Amino acid sequence: MEWLHEREDTQLASVRLLLLGSAAVTGWELFLEFLKRGAISGGMALVIYFIAAGTVARLFSREVARDITRHDIKWGVVSLLVGSPILQGYALAHEQWGVSFVYTDIGEYGWLYWLVSLPLYVLLWDLTFYLTHRVLHWPKVYRGSHFRHHSCRPPVAWSGIAIDPFETLLSGIAPYIVPLFIMPFHIWTVYALNMALLIWATCLHSSMNYAGNAVILGPKDHNLHHTYGLKNCNYAAVFTFWDRLFGTLDRKNSPPWWGMKEMWRPKGKPITTPQDGPDRIQA
Ligand SMILES: [Zn+2]
Ligand SMILES: [Zn+2]
Repeated sequence: MEWLHEREDTQLASVRLLLLGSAAVTGWELFLEFLKRGAISGGMALVIYFIAAGTVARLFSREVARDITRHDIKWGVVSLLVGSPILQGYALAHEQWGVSFVYTDIGEYGWLYWLVSLPLYVLLWDLTFYLTHRVLHWPKVYRGSHFRHHSCRPPVAWSGIAIDPFETLLSGIAPYIVPLFIMPFHIWTVYALNMALLIWATCLHSSMNYAGNAVILGPKDHNLHHTYGLKNCNYAAVFTFWDRLFGTLDRKNSPPWWGMKEMWRPKGKPITTPQDGPDRIQA
């Protein structure tokens, strides 16, 4: 069995070298590694986005003008091409200089901790998303950036990540990184939940008839968020806790298009200049 251990050791060493954790590397090598990882993760994210949004759009369809779908896909692709390299750059910086509590060996904290850390990560992700999303609804920020994500009424699966680079930085990337400065999370937790949340984003914007769960903020809740503009409700993306805590949960109103599926056929153009409305109707 000794040979097996030796092989494991060599594999581990090569993985370490790959992760650039132990070797002293030049700036140029680091830059090449950054380009490689950015290209790989950007490519993977694009594939997941097109498969997930394509499937959800087909299963939980909603007909909107082709221009609107094109607008959302364009910003979806831009957001992944901007966001993926930034996340990889952060991961590289962590490997080089250990800038947060991310860890790579499950054994370091044990399996039980890992299991408990999964919902905690999503909870902290959702809190960061909630807070950054509130910032996106500040008038200046909304008019400068977030109105683009609200431009599709009703939203479709493709709208899930239809956000500009500013919003990508603020509410696309920050929610993944901020929790890593609060407590330790395994690197695969970050990547796996990253993919799961990308798929969840496509569901939230579709016509999937899932609503009323006490804990989970569903597609109907987020569709209601898209019904309104600047002044809004239902800011979180996964749980109801944060909207309950800050008094922004609205389950009394219903999106005007809810349950209409194919019957709702807006033929308009996407909104490309900032506008504040429509105003929220307080029930
Ligand atoms: Zn919003
Ligand atoms: Zn949305």
